[in-house]
Order: sequence, then C-alpha cells, then structure tokens
Amino acid sequence: MLEKTPKATCLLCKSKYTGTGMTRHLQSCLPKSLKNQRKSQRLKPQPFFHILVKGYYSPGYWLHLKVASSAKLEVLDQFLRDIWLECCGHLSAFSYEGTDLAMGRKLEDVFTPGMELLHEYDFGTTTELLVKVLGEYEGPMEKNKPVEILSRNEAPEILCDVCGKAPAVQICTECQWEGGGWLCQSCAESHECSKEMFLPVVNSPRTGVCGYTG
Ligand SMILES: [Zn+2]
Ligand SMILES: [Zn+2]
Ligand SMILES: [Zn+2]
Ligand SMILES: [Zn+2]
Repeated sequence: MLEKTPKATCLLCKSKYTGTGMTRHLQSCLPKSLKNQRKSQRLKPQPFFHILVKGYYSPGYWLHLKVASSAKLEVLDQFLRDIWLECCGHLSAFSYEGTDLAMGRKLEDVFTPGMELLHEYDFGTTTELLVKVLGEYEGPMEKNKPVEILSRNEAPEILCDVCGKAPAVQICTECQWEGGGWLCQSCAESHECSKEMFLPVVNSPRTGVCGYTG
C-alpha cells in the first residue's frame, strides 16, 4: 500500500505545508494573525488552546484546532466524533499518563502547553488519538463555536493493493489485515469477498474500522 500525501492548507494564511511543516508554521502564523485581528476587533478576546490531534498509529491524519479554554472535554470529544470517529456510539475517554479524565472537566483545568494526552474511541476496535497541547493564546472566537479548525491533513492518496495503479476507494475488511484489502473501483468490482465486507476509504484514522463510513 503506497501512499502519497498532498500538502495541507493553513486556513489562516492559505499557505501549504506537509504535517511537520504545518506544526512549525502555525506556531508563528497563529500569534501573528492574532496581532492583526486585534486591530479589527468585533469579538471579545478569550483564552483558547492551540492543539494538534493525530492518529496515534496513523500520524498522516491530523487536525490543528483552536479550542476555547472554557470548553469541557466532552465538547472536544463530540467534535472528534463528528469529524473522524463516530460509527455506532461507542464509549470514549481522554487520559493523561494512564489516568482517565472526567468529560465534564474544562480544558483550562486540565491542559497546559507541552502536555500530551491520549484519546480513545471504542474499547473493542479502538482508534487512538494523540492530543498535543501546543500553546495557549487569547483572541477572538466565534460565538457558539468553541472548536475551530486551523488546518487539516489532505486525504492521502493510497494505491490499490491489487493493481497498484489506481487510488483505493473501498476497503475489504476481510482482507485488509493480510495486506490485500485496499481496492480501487474496478478491482473492488471483481473482488471475491461479499460486498457487505466493504467500507469506503475516508479521510480519517478510523477508515476501515468497525462500521465507519465517514
Ligand atoms: Zn498560516
Ligand atoms: Zn462501531
Ligand atoms: Zn486496482
Ligand atoms: Zn476480501
């Protein structure tokens, strides 16, 4: 399974970077953009965290987020479910150094810059995410929008395991662990397993897991 990841866009300044380049870029672009916003202020500034969330075992899937410091962990959990995880209402948890954190706790009471937490969704076929707190700032945030995306990875282009030529669009959940389950459209049509075993390829670290369809 060969893959190629296109560069992602910084939503603040529209410049393009790969994963690690984006982390470096945002640490200077974000404070710079806050300075500029201060001049044309219509929203009251409030504290927020800049966090990076990425697949623990698939770091090619990542999100740079701005999250209000007053938001509860459950707000971040719901956001991650909506964008990346939700398939059948499994349980989830944030933990720090092996200790689970109550979902009702506020970010400002838990997060400090430099901290790394774990988020787990579904304790059967678990999707593990690494949550890195990169910084805390003060700036305008839209009302009723405690989480904003600063940047998100572009969908990696993963080639079909069978022909190795066209991009994979379906995953056969029977065959994926033997390294032959990522299929392009035409190889999916001639694949011998039941079509009920197929899941679509989506831009999420939960692609091909349980009943996740994006
Ligand atoms: Zn930027
Ligand atoms: Zn599920
Ligand atoms: Zn193919
Ligand atoms: Zn199969």
